[in-house]
Amino acid sequence: MHSALDSWFTKEKRSFPWRNNPTPYMVLVSEIMLQQTQVRRVLLYFSQWMNLFPSLEALAESSEEAVIKAWEGLGYYSRARALHKAAKTIVAQHHGHIPKTKEELLLIPGIGPYTAGAILSFAFHKRALAIDSNVERVMRRLYQISFSDKNARSLIETHVESLLPHKKAWHTMEALIELGALVCQKKPACRFCPISSFCASYKNGSIEDPPPKNKPTQLFRDVACIICQDEILVVHRTGKQIMSGLYEFPFFDSTKEGRSRKTFLHHLETHTPAPLTFQEKLPATTHSFTRFRSFLYPWIILSQQKFAWPDGKWIPLDDLCLLPFSSGHKKITTMLNNYL
Ligand code: SF4
Repeated sequence: MHSALDSWFTKEKRSFPWRNNPTPYMVLVSEIMLQQTQVRRVLLYFSQWMNLFPSLEALAESSEEAVIKAWEGLGYYSRARALHKAAKTIVAQHHGHIPKTKEELLLIPGIGPYTAGAILSFAFHKRALAIDSNVERVMRRLYQISFSDKNARSLIETHVESLLPHKKAWHTMEALIELGALVCQKKPACRFCPISSFCASYKNGSIEDPPPKNKPTQLFRDVACIICQDEILVVHRTGKQIMSGLYEFPFFDSTKEGRSRKTFLHHLETHTPAPLTFQEKLPATTHSFTRFRSFLYPWIILSQQKFAWPDGKWIPLDDLCLLPFSSGHKKITTMLNNYL
């Protein structure tokens, strides 16, 4: 089966900047970016990242704020922080060389079994398993492994292991990933599949649907863009918060429709010492992160004086574009720039 897969991959594989003559660092960055993010989005970020941080050393020496800023818009920011920590660890403990064993790789922040396998396979051309959701889907269908099967993961690993040839195993490994991404998608294009003659689901004409995903939890938030002369109040998220390292405007849990202007202003005044005036209500915007979908209702509020706010700081309006914002609040900064 692997030769059919290999020939197909040689002809059909997509060309990516991290796929043509990859360095271990390029594989590390691309694999971490590709976790939970589609290829077309990663393509918008990868080359720019390589320009900003051309090596592990350059990444390790950069500030966390610069790293988060470069990641802005990709989501799941814990990946950026982990990549930054990984670079520091590799520079400090491995003289800047990404290790070549699974055991050592798994000790590096942000590197789990899949990423370790991908680095060993694609960067070092070792015979290693790199089983992502694409491979898992292909193998489930190929061998009719049910979602209810508690041993599914180990069965999949065994099947991938036996499928990989001893020569150029990395090529077959990447071919399987590509097959899942291009052909054996959620709706499989079996007519174009190079291994359909080996596929149990195809032969039996039955493809099991994955269990339905939980609906995201909805959050409703009134967002206060408080301006005093030519400065605006922003909050720097820190510690273990989801948006740690990013900036946001102060916000308050709200109702599905958002508060009325009078109620919001009154609510805000209970949290601030300064007299406030309503300036404008900006269009509502949405933002999805982890298992949440948040609905943001942004308000422009004017204050006659600056005041202290937990983790807050006043920054010049012109500097808004210099700071890394969470995706939803980034949309608000764009609206603000258009409005002001
Ligand atoms: S034949 Fe269809 S279901 Fe089977 S591996 Fe190919 S694309 Fe997937």
